[in-house]
Amino acid sequence: MALKYQSTRDLNQTKITPTKAILSGLSHDGGLFVPDKLPKLDLTLTQLPHLSYQELAFKILQPFFNDYPTEILRENIQKAYQTQWDTPEITPLKSFGQVNYLELFHGPTLAFKDVALQLLPHLMLSANELNHDQNEIVILTATSGDTGKAAMAGFSDVSHTQIIVFYPKDGVSVIQERQMLTQTGQNTHVLGLLGNFDDAQNEVKRLFNDPDLTATLLSRHQRFSSANSINIGRLFPQVVYYFFAYGRLLEKGVIKAGNQVNFSVPTGNFGDILAGWFAKNLGLPIHKLICASNQNNVLYDFFNQGTYDKKRPFYVTNSPSMDILVSSNLERLLYYISGKDADLTQRLLSDLQKKGAYTITENMQAQLRDFFADFADEKQTLAEIKRVYHEFNYLIDPHTAVASKAYQVYQEKTGDKRPTVILATASPFKFPQTVLNALGVTSDDLTALTKLADFTGIPVPAAIDGLFQKPLLHHQVISPMQMKETILASLRA
Ligand SMILES: *Cc1c(COP(=O)(O)O)cnc(C)c1O
Repeated sequence: MALKYQSTRDLNQTKITPTKAILSGLSHDGGLFVPDKLPKLDLTLTQLPHLSYQELAFKILQPFFNDYPTEILRENIQKAYQTQWDTPEITPLKSFGQVNYLELFHGPTLAFKDVALQLLPHLMLSANELNHDQNEIVILTATSGDTGKAAMAGFSDVSHTQIIVFYPKDGVSVIQERQMLTQTGQNTHVLGLLGNFDDAQNEVKRLFNDPDLTATLLSRHQRFSSANSINIGRLFPQVVYYFFAYGRLLEKGVIKAGNQVNFSVPTGNFGDILAGWFAKNLGLPIHKLICASNQNNVLYDFFNQGTYDKKRPFYVTNSPSMDILVSSNLERLLYYISGKDADLTQRLLSDLQKKGAYTITENMQAQLRDFFADFADEKQTLAEIKRVYHEFNYLIDPHTAVASKAYQVYQEKTGDKRPTVILATASPFKFPQTVLNALGVTSDDLTALTKLADFTGIPVPAAIDGLFQKPLLHHQVISPMQMKETILASLRA
């Protein structure tokens, strides 16, 4: 029986096909879609060094997206991973002894979100056709800085789609904001929000299932979908690069097939690291998944104490894409460690909504052994950028630095010598001021990019060269309360 999807909150376990789950994004009950079983992959570890990124992606994604005819899935994967990446490897691995950085930022917007968001628009359009759905797809997206641009880069001028992005007006980097505000495409809408990412994500989730809004859209032959990492079309493409990294380690002779490795993941919404957890459960020999947070360290407390408590100050940090207090994808992990108990999952999430916190059972806590959690504050993040630059002559961005630092701490605490892959989630050129600051150079917004290139001898990536000469095309700033009316006013009918 082919794999299907059900909601983490559905006691009846209603099953839907992969294409329907991709089109819906979020379940009607507010839960997230999870596969009703895990497939056995048609893949051995010894094959890994010999597969291209595209071939590997097909082998991993086919069982998860099994109602796409194989030729269509292959074609979509080909379109997603071609010359819009500045290297044919797609996600190259840089090795310094046992420490390895998997560079996930070679796509059009210079952050790891491109890996899934270059594929998702193709998956959605095919899903619409396969389901004979005539409605226009309206992508509603909350962004902490990188998803918004990556989603628009994927959906810009794609027929039968419109995309609306809400970003925290004072919570993203100068480059991130510029990238979004210069976005072209008749079907793109970008709005600054007077609030933080959690405000945006919370309201987006609510509006998604707002009956009134859904009905109005339907009368205009439109329907919502999501490009956030709650969508399975985001989640599973991220599983691929864990396997790819393992293949590169085999190829370089750092490991033999079957040896365990660790991954350290800079974490916000818990999407990227959850993909790693799936990789492990699909048979990839992973010892620990290191969950690295910045000063917004709600996950660090959760993993170490078993209580998730969002009632705490929200910090705007130098790793803004991780400035999140409610990590949506954690709901999927809760579901699994509760033994797929939708009732318990629902109760925990309802506690979070009503009381701002929940505590998991001891049984659940015992199943968090796959993870090690730590966090880095802003000073430690800067120090780590500097250390890695001086030690390896290698430049990392602040998000990567958080993961790199958490790995250092892990190493010190455990003495674990297993090879470790740190996920490098953004290009350092997306955060040039912070990176320069870490290296002891001061600069202003406008000169930071070229100054960083001059200082390091690394050219500015083509994707953002000339960014400050481009016209600003989006200007509106609103409060969370205005989101609903703004959606209706912005959308082309
Ligand atoms: C989104 C993002 C993260 C966090 O990933 P999640 O899947 O939300 O946990 C980390 N680093 C960068 C650069 C990002 O854009």
